[in-house]
Amino acid sequence: MTTAAHTMTLLASLILFAGLGAFVWLALAWVARLAPRASLTMAGANAALVASVALHMSRGVLPDALTFWPGDVLAVASFALLGAAVSAITARHLAWKPGALVVAVAAVLLAAVPYGDDLRWQARVVSLASAGLTLGAGVGAWRALGSSGSWGSGRRTPAPLALPLFLIGTLLLVRAAETVLPSGGTPDLRVPGEFNRLFLWTALVLTLLQNATLAFLLLMRLILRIERLLERDPLTDTLNRRAFDQALAHAHAWLARGRRYALVMIDMDHFKQLNDTLGHAAGDAALRQLVAVLQPCMREVDRFGRLGGEEFCLLLPDTDIAGAALVAERMRALVEHTPLRWLEQDWPVSASFGLAEAEHGDADASAVLARADAALYRAKRQGRNVVQP
Ligand code: GH3
Ligand code: MG
Ligand code: MG
Repeated sequence: MTTAAHTMTLLASLILFAGLGAFVWLALAWVARLAPRASLTMAGANAALVASVALHMSRGVLPDALTFWPGDVLAVASFALLGAAVSAITARHLAWKPGALVVAVAAVLLAAVPYGDDLRWQARVVSLASAGLTLGAGVGAWRALGSSGSWGSGRRTPAPLALPLFLIGTLLLVRAAETVLPSGGTPDLRVPGEFNRLFLWTALVLTLLQNATLAFLLLMRLILRIERLLERDPLTDTLNRRAFDQALAHAHAWLARGRRYALVMIDMDHFKQLNDTLGHAAGDAALRQLVAVLQPCMREVDRFGRLGGEEFCLLLPDTDIAGAALVAERMRALVEHTPLRWLEQDWPVSASFGLAEAEHGDADASAVLARADAALYRAKRQGRNVVQP
């Protein structure tokens, strides 16, 4: 195959891959209804790239007014759309304004200099604008993915997933730099040459990589959301019974290997009375407030679950009963001093606490749970608002 045919084949492959990408993202948006706005924006980015490359290939065949300026503007628009889709997927916010501004400025600059024999000025505007958009999206994605608790999961997403954006940005900068080299200056991608061939091969690989990475991120976001729905109590956002039992079984398995744990069983006092007096909505608010008040007393390794109704349990790894008593007493005092504000009045609330420490004789976690429950029962009989070991 001649080199000229080679660059045309590479351009056609780019159209094919980006076209396929557009189709897959459209399916994700319309059929799977998966992050529809982000997916549609990605479909748009791929479609704009297809149109831009197709117009570039049609130079000399179709009228110049159609193939030059519109093709270049579409190229920049494609990277603006990519940047918007990246922000929608990684930061859950479709930031389109900076991209639109860059496209508008690039369109004006490209219209300012006529398209003649020398296209290096246009190549610089297109490459630099696109590089800026892509690198900006890369920095945003790196920050959003690297922050803990991204997507409300408390789990970190590897920031290097933003890497393809930096590679694309770099490739575009290299293209802009090539136009100032004495030996360089091949802004027409159809021109056969070592640089264009390398540029197109890299563009092809990176287009695939970028689409795959974003699709992967979208799936990961979906999985994390499902995981969260499965393990959380919808009212209080604490672990549900099943997830807490799992955490408890896990802690108990470690007991045999010398890692102790303690439980704090928590039950609100006279909750039925509060419910009956103020209504179910106030009861719900009291439950949410209880969780908010208790949360600052917990470490990152502690697990907190709602066992049912107004009963909660805190699992404290590497803690003995004395340590658990300290935590429970701090919690008890906090609850007592934080009344429920309802209908512009303060309503007193309190809770009772039962403690238990896992012992080597405990066959399974339910034995420890039963001891904590018995301690809680004693706390209630003592008149409530107390901690019972
Ligand atoms: P004690 O001091 O002995 O613990 O008495 P109590 O009233 O707190 O305990 P009891 O078990 O008699 O009442 C619990 C009440 O909790 C009964 C039920 O209506 C209410 N409840 C259970 N789940 C929810 C919920 O999700 N929201 C609201 N608002 N109330 C709930
Ligand atoms: Mg109660
Ligand atoms: Mg109860």
